[in-house]
Order: sequence, then structure tokens, then C-alpha cells
Amino acid sequence: MFSIKKILILCGLLTSTQIFALPQDSRRAGGIAVIPLSQNISEVKYKDQPILITQPNTQRYAIFGIPLSTPVGSLELQTNAQPIQIEVKPYKYAEQRLNVKNQDYVNPQQEQLDRYAIEAKEQNDIYTSFSPAQFSDFPNFIRPTAGKFSNSFGRKRFFNGEERAPHSGLDIPAPVGQKVVAPASGVVVGVGDYFFNGQTVLVDHGQGLISMFCHLSKINVVKGQKLTQGEVLGLVGKTGRVTGPHLHWGMSLNNARVDPQLFLNQ
Ligand SMILES: [Zn+2]
Repeated sequence: MFSIKKILILCGLLTSTQIFALPQDSRRAGGIAVIPLSQNISEVKYKDQPILITQPNTQRYAIFGIPLSTPVGSLELQTNAQPIQIEVKPYKYAEQRLNVKNQDYVNPQQEQLDRYAIEAKEQNDIYTSFSPAQFSDFPNFIRPTAGKFSNSFGRKRFFNGEERAPHSGLDIPAPVGQKVVAPASGVVVGVGDYFFNGQTVLVDHGQGLISMFCHLSKINVVKGQKLTQGEVLGLVGKTGRVTGPHLHWGMSLNNARVDPQLFLNQ
């Protein structure tokens, strides 16, 4: 069966060599809005954060990440011309109750909290960065590792009964040592061994689109390294706060953690 997207891809192939790749439009907290722009709009912002713009054909699009904390209702984006209204729809994420034995991960000591504050700032600086990239073709993402995708993004989490921040990525259970590849080309902007996330790699794909790979057993890249799609960046592991070996794959767009599955073609 042909989806509209596939038909668009075929039309694109018939008229030019460009492949029409855009993420899926899902207007919910933690989702993505794919917004066709009128001719006069060349710049879009949300709370002073610039928004990714791509032009796969004659139409230009803003690709906006909707933060997980966004309430249901309308939201306004600023542009160089008229503002854009977005309707954020309700969406029910699953709940997860975990028993974490290591108390340091449930109620960290002051020393660990200090360490986490430094790490969080380091990661926030990366998420709020905006490196120029001309997306004539939006990156056509591939899966970073093999395995069954749990529907874990956005889950409300309770550790030993206490509510914590919702899960900001997608967990892919996989054996320790399995290869993790770059889902699209980019530049390694962060490499670290973090308290919660364990051995981690962050990749900048341009215009505020950042991917994150956590709990690795081995890191194969260094900061500043350019990666092509499919290149091995590390191996699956169980470092940091985990209950078993898996890859935590996070995607951030305009500093909003969004569902990585929306970047994969169906
Ligand atoms: Zn995770």
C-alpha cells in the first residue's frame, strides 16, 4: 500500500533526483510539527530558540520540536513576518514503575548532584546550540542499532514509588557489544561518562537537531569527529543508571526532546 509520503517520494524522484524526506508530523508534547511556510517567511523562532528550516523541493518547511512539558492547546511561533499558530493535541504516554536497588541513583548524594549539575549544563549547551546546515534534503534517518523498539519515549516514571522526569528517549534492548551507528551524518559534539547516562555520545546533525546515545560499553569516536550515516560510533552497554543492557537513543530539536521514532520512515 502506498502512503502519501511514499507517493511524494516517487513524485520527487520523477521530477528531480531529490528524495523527499521529512519527519512525521505529530502535534503533541514530545512530538514534531512539520510546517509548510509561506514564501515571505525565512526565519522561525520559539522562545528565542531558532527553528530548523528545510527546503526539499519548491516548498520550505519549519521542523519544530514540541517540548515534553507543553500543555495541550495552541502555541505561537515567531517569524520574520506573521506568527504561526500550532495546535498541540492530547496524548497519553505510558507509566513505568521501577525498583532501582542502587540508592545513589534514586536519591543521589550532594557530591553526585554537583557532578550531575555540571553534566546537565554541558548537555544543555549542546542542545541549545544552532550550527548552520543547509538541509536541501532533510536527513533520512536509519535505526542506530538492531532490536525491538519499546514504546518507551515520554513514559512517566516512578523510581521506588517517587515520580521523576518523563523518559526523554527511546530504549532499544540489545546485547552488550552490539554496534551503534550514526543514524544520519553529523559531527560528534559531546563524549562523556555521565552519572545517569553512562558512556554517552552526542551528534549534531545541524540547525539544533542533536542525537544522543547512552549507556555505551565502548565509545569509538572523539569530539569534533565527522560521521557519515551508518558509521559505528560505539557499542551497546549498561553503564550509568540502567536495569539491563540497552541503547537509550535521544533526539533533541530546538532544545526539545522529541520521539526519535518520528524521524524514521515507516
Ligand atoms: Zn532510556
